[in-house]
Amino acid sequence: MTKEWGRPVSQVTEHGGGVWSIEVPIPDNPLGHTLVHVLDTDDGPVLIDTGWDDPASWDTLADGLAALGTSVTDIHGVVITHHHPDHHGLSGQVRDASGAWIAMHAADTDVVRRTRNAEPGTWLDYLTAKLTAAGAPDDHLAPLRAARASGRMRTLPGLSAALPDREIVPGDLLPLTGRRLRAIWTPGHTPGHVCLHLEETHPAKLPGNGRLFSGDHLLPGITPHIGLYEDPDDTTVTDPLGDYLDSLERVERLAPAEVLPAHQHAFTDAPARVRELLGHHEDRLNGLRALLATPLTPWQLAERMEWNRPWDQIPYGSRNIAVSEAEAHLRRLVKLGRAEAVPGGDPLTYVAA
Ligand SMILES: [Zn+2]
Ligand SMILES: [Zn+2]
Repeated sequence: MTKEWGRPVSQVTEHGGGVWSIEVPIPDNPLGHTLVHVLDTDDGPVLIDTGWDDPASWDTLADGLAALGTSVTDIHGVVITHHHPDHHGLSGQVRDASGAWIAMHAADTDVVRRTRNAEPGTWLDYLTAKLTAAGAPDDHLAPLRAARASGRMRTLPGLSAALPDREIVPGDLLPLTGRRLRAIWTPGHTPGHVCLHLEETHPAKLPGNGRLFSGDHLLPGITPHIGLYEDPDDTTVTDPLGDYLDSLERVERLAPAEVLPAHQHAFTDAPARVRELLGHHEDRLNGLRALLATPLTPWQLAERMEWNRPWDQIPYGSRNIAVSEAEAHLRRLVKLGRAEAVPGGDPLTYVAA
């Protein structure tokens, strides 16, 4: 173990039983950091998620591994919970340095492939059409139309994300020598989100079934964003919130002794946290249904929903995310028969049923 003077000591936490976490910073983000987990295997260390693609984040990851007496070049494999850049950002660089494989669920690999191949114009057209259908006002659509007309299109994040070379198959044990790590498909936050269940006795003998690396699916103090899956090629009506609630119940049934999430901190009593989140979403659906006493477009619903700040203070990009979240809730209400589309509207409005 080496330590260079004058550099901050990396935030490494030992969780016991050959598991550690490294706090890898996310620049300019209120979440602060991603917890990159290191799992010791007989073939070398395996990472669960890698962190944001930024030089300072890379240095923190490298320093953390050095503090554990290993190195980025020794990494045997990379298991990704989902494709978001705070989880998958550094995967390519880790693979380049070590020759490690990268594993991801096929549905999220599809997102990575689509984003890498996307023409910025296609994405802008999709976003414009989607927001128009959701009832976005002209002043919100104008910048998108102007960008399209000028040909000056901002490049998309994730354009250079690494294409994984292995598929995480739901229900399967990952091929790790000396460890039992099973993939649990938990769609909702993304279509291919997985949790990883370490089917080994808890090192402190806490009651429950092993430990769960939960990614963004189950966090101790925040609710992950549930929006639409945003696939321009997919015309099926997906129900991400329904997927998410089902995935929560799947994790509740596992009853892990401890949860090791990708943000915040490790915690116990996963079933209690699951019930809290199920209750939160039930309350939110009831609240939205009450708002639909008069017909509203998804945009109008988003304007009336409760956010962490007033609607007029929500920045442009976050409004798009908010509308996506409103639509995910609408789809759920429609699927449950608690709301319905008003026929003939353009844009379409929804009303409580
Ligand atoms: Zn995420
Ligand atoms: Zn995240």
